[in-house]
Amino acid sequence: MTEGAIRADLIIRNGLVVTMDRDRRVIEGGAVVVTGAEITAVGDQALGERYEAVTVIDAAGDIVMPGMVNTHCHAAMTVFRGLGDDIPDRLERYIFPLEAKAVTAELVYWGAMLAILEMIEAGVTTFADMYFFEEMVGKAARDLGMRAVVGETVIGFAAPDCATPEDAVARTLAMARDWGGDDLVQVGLAPHAPYSLAADTLRRVADVAREADLPVQIHLAETQKEWDDMQAAHGRSPVAYLASVGLLNDRLTAAHCLFADEDDMAQLRDSGAGVSHNPGSNAKAGKGVAPALRMRALGIPVGLGTDGAMSGNTLDIFSQMSLASKIHKLEQRDRRVATAADMVAMGTIDGAASLHMAASVGSLEAGKRADIAVVSTKSTHMRPLHDVYSALVYAAWAGDVRHTVINGRVVMRDRKIPGYSRDKIYREFDRIAGGIKGIAASL
Ligand SMILES: [Zn+2]
Repeated sequence: MTEGAIRADLIIRNGLVVTMDRDRRVIEGGAVVVTGAEITAVGDQALGERYEAVTVIDAAGDIVMPGMVNTHCHAAMTVFRGLGDDIPDRLERYIFPLEAKAVTAELVYWGAMLAILEMIEAGVTTFADMYFFEEMVGKAARDLGMRAVVGETVIGFAAPDCATPEDAVARTLAMARDWGGDDLVQVGLAPHAPYSLAADTLRRVADVAREADLPVQIHLAETQKEWDDMQAAHGRSPVAYLASVGLLNDRLTAAHCLFADEDDMAQLRDSGAGVSHNPGSNAKAGKGVAPALRMRALGIPVGLGTDGAMSGNTLDIFSQMSLASKIHKLEQRDRRVATAADMVAMGTIDGAASLHMAASVGSLEAGKRADIAVVSTKSTHMRPLHDVYSALVYAAWAGDVRHTVINGRVVMRDRKIPGYSRDKIYREFDRIAGGIKGIAASL
């Protein structure tokens, strides 16, 4: 140990550090110092040299950025990836019947293991999830060292693991007790959507969320049909209806929000809710373009989400940053409207804010959790590095991520997963996914 050096557990040195802090500092040859689960210092080379650590990562030629936040996912749906991609009205006609027949606790565990592996490989360090047997998603996150917000789907018909919505609420509360205080896994409520639950159930979820102090995620204003049906049944928009049942507040993260008018957006902003923008999933389904930039301009925290792998087919945020930028530029016929720096913000700090987690993750700052992605710039398509935000949004692929750190632990180093066998995950996943085709064919 060098005389006078300060002890730390991990130092990432010599990188191009993209902090995403309030001043959007970018530090050349910078250092990120980690002690335990926390970032203890971020600064230039001289600062880094004041510290010594057991684990030192030399990030020369690499970009060091906050781990990305996937604000909306159904991790276990990796097992269904590539099925029924282009079927119309497929949620009701295809996905729900398929899930009723196929989804088991084992499927959810190994589906989530593959999804989490894919996200770690892509530099994602937090994801919000909504599915069935959701405790298995929490277990998978724990097993691979991933940060997650897990929500058991509350839906108005018999689900694979819960006969009634009330059962799903009870299951959520049991999970919240089991996982209470966990450093990585946070339990939340996940009412499926305003159209798939009775008003009483939505009110009940709002009450439980307040009493148990839990975050809430929901699909909201996703289709024209949802808008039309809501107008016909309740005489209001999906956002206004959600407000009327007590769910529009600062616990909420609303996924999609394609059909929101100015009044809705004002209401969203005033409520303190966050929004998950899923450009890849929405574009693939031909649903439309969410007014994400308008919401962002109003001050609503808007993060990026991939949706499940059956909807968006990929779980990486690089692709969403790129798509978001291009879709909004296309829509507005204006290349100025969605800058690369704004997209990186949506993939990191704004994503954290949309999940109400910005105090602990989303940027590289002392006092925050050490969730970090180290991205190589050595591949052919990353040369030269004239503008780091441009490189991350318009050129980088998930495979450029070299190291991923979550909660101070190096969960991927030089693309290797210490302490866990990729082959084991592939073997179990392939076995389960292999049985799906027969079930799908029988629908
Ligand atoms: Zn979804």
